[in-house]
Amino acid sequence: MQRLLVALLLVSVLPGASGGDAGPPLGGRKMGFAGETAGVLARYFNKDANVEAAAPPGRAPAPPPPPVAGTPAQFRGQPLLPRFAAPRRYDLRIRPDLVACTFSGTASVAVAVSAPTRFLVLNAADLSVDSASIRFRDLAPKEVVFFDDDEILVLGFSKDLPLGEGVLSMKFNGTLNDQMRGFYRSKYQYKGKMKNMAVTQFESVDARRCFPCWDEPAFKAKFKLTLEVPVGMVALSNMPIANQTVAGPIKTVRYVESPLMSTYLVAIVVGLLEYIEGVTPEGTKVRVYTQVGKSDQGKFALDVGIKSLHLYKDYFGTPYPLPKLDMVAIPDFAAGAMENYGLVTFREVALLFDEESSAESSKQSIAITVAHELAHQWFGNLVTMEWWTHLWLNEGFATWMSNLAVDSFFPQWNIWTQFLDDTTAGLKLDSLAESHPIEVEIHHASEVDEIFDAISYDKGASVIRMLQNYLGAERFQ
Ligand SMILES: [Zn+2]
Repeated sequence: MQRLLVALLLVSVLPGASGGDAGPPLGGRKMGFAGETAGVLARYFNKDANVEAAAPPGRAPAPPPPPVAGTPAQFRGQPLLPRFAAPRRYDLRIRPDLVACTFSGTASVAVAVSAPTRFLVLNAADLSVDSASIRFRDLAPKEVVFFDDDEILVLGFSKDLPLGEGVLSMKFNGTLNDQMRGFYRSKYQYKGKMKNMAVTQFESVDARRCFPCWDEPAFKAKFKLTLEVPVGMVALSNMPIANQTVAGPIKTVRYVESPLMSTYLVAIVVGLLEYIEGVTPEGTKVRVYTQVGKSDQGKFALDVGIKSLHLYKDYFGTPYPLPKLDMVAIPDFAAGAMENYGLVTFREVALLFDEESSAESSKQSIAITVAHELAHQWFGNLVTMEWWTHLWLNEGFATWMSNLAVDSFFPQWNIWTQFLDDTTAGLKLDSLAESHPIEVEIHHASEVDEIFDAISYDKGASVIRMLQNYLGAERFQ
């Protein structure tokens, strides 16, 4: 991910540039269950029930009762999901409704059970999971319990599950929110009318708001997506389209199965888009997608993207891992950009250069942002930190690498002098009592977003730069 660069912030107030303005809320975060287990769930949602009893007035709430081994509650309050079951392959079918701003989906996940257990524990949040639809190897769970604070879904079966691989399937529904995380809607103008675009932003822990999953970077799996979208819409995902069929007003788009990847890098974009295209010397197709009428503004980023893929292939000694790369300008976007595997999303000002109205300095921030996200395709996506504790290595490296790339493309910019200037933000933050080491223990998913800061990015990049200087450029590479 790329934080919002200062230059981008300045540019974003210029006429014609888009900010991250979000419309009115669509409603609160929801998680509900349909079907037969409503009674079980009521214990966790009903304020009058024993487990979540309201505290008497004037007294602090009683601590939750200690978890009992063998019950779903034993999985509460854990920093990580249990390791006795792991996903191998997700087959996801998702149908966004861009008018109602909702989506429905089915997940069929090949899960490997490696130790005796009668439970499956995975992440889900803001989703309505149809508990009656849940099956694992044709077994229906006896208990389906969602723990809101932990954002986990616990499926309890009547007896121990067979070891080895089986398919877990379920149906779910959700809302295309306007919080710019999970699966959300962005708005744009098309022929004078306001339209909705469906966009994902999953880093760090928001894939669970789009589909139930093992939402930790170490649980890598293959993803095979199918999207059902209105005919006429462009539907993009990490991988190229395998085939598509049309039935009435709906187009079903099936994508090629991905290599092993983490959930936070899965991505979907559905909207009315146009693109420009180029090819790397190695033959990888690179596209820049924009709102209709803006694709010309993607030329500079496309050029930097193609050069970056070529440079990184040589630097890392490994080809770009995927068959295509798309870079998409999203009208409403919280960060600067996001390195989704093969489908990188950007705030418009971080990708598009308008010869007439963009400031010349924005070329530098576009080049840095593109080079940063594409460095992640290797460093972060192909090779991934096991847990968010090592975020600094992911972000520090991409930050350092983007400067190395941009310096080689545009030596006249003397970008390393700006790097030193940028890293003063890290020094300033580091001078505060609230500073933290570059490597941070993360005990709960809710803590992750706090460390996307100047310490992880700028101090992290500085440490890597020092290491490279100490070892020498060749040995470091
Ligand atoms: Zn990044």
